[in-house]
Amino acid sequence: MKVLIVEDDKGIVSFLVKGLRAEGYAPFVAENGVVAVDMLASAIDPFDLVLLDLGLPGMTGVEVLQRLRLRDSTLPVIILTAHEGTGEKVRGLDLGANDYVTKPFAFEELLARMRATIRSAIQPASNELVVGDLRFDLQTKIAHRGGRNIELAPREWALLELFMRHPTHVLSRSRILSEVWEYDFDPGSNVVDVYIGYIRRKINLPGLEPMFKTIRGAGYRLI
Ligand code: CA
Repeated sequence: MKVLIVEDDKGIVSFLVKGLRAEGYAPFVAENGVVAVDMLASAIDPFDLVLLDLGLPGMTGVEVLQRLRLRDSTLPVIILTAHEGTGEKVRGLDLGANDYVTKPFAFEELLARMRATIRSAIQPASNELVVGDLRFDLQTKIAHRGGRNIELAPREWALLELFMRHPTHVLSRSRILSEVWEYDFDPGSNVVDVYIGYIRRKINLPGLEPMFKTIRGAGYRLI
């Protein structure tokens, strides 16, 4: 799980980085809002969660959130706020933050809120994922496109589901290997490319727009 920590207080940053690593998260740090916006826009593997301080130098946390929500309405964001009951916190929630914790906070409380936020973000509102004209039924594991039902093998549906949960993002081979095959290393095979090929043949039906784009040296993107 990739977590972006947007925080200018070095003490809090090192406390969070150490704690999150120990819990098995992969923490990344942006020390100001401009860097955060840049990292969110350019990350090859998307972040799973953002911890966002509101009191940042230069661009405020609220502005970071505003910009993020213009592009991505689903990435979970937990606000870290210094004061209780301030307008900033309410503003942040109005702008689409998922939750907040008030500093100083207990690390255990933050972890519990992170787990709850990630859980509710992962559970889709319906049983169907939709990207463009491609639909995937999470219950039956059958995809639908161009008026046809598309049967998928287990690895294929896991792979398609991963891409459909991160539409337009570039996903690297190592991320795909770790999420679909649960390898923490690259076994040096072309298994990912082979399976992308299988799915392409199934969903890129004649007359329909091709949906998987190969990003040379980086991975693949579902468009
Ligand atoms: Ca701060």
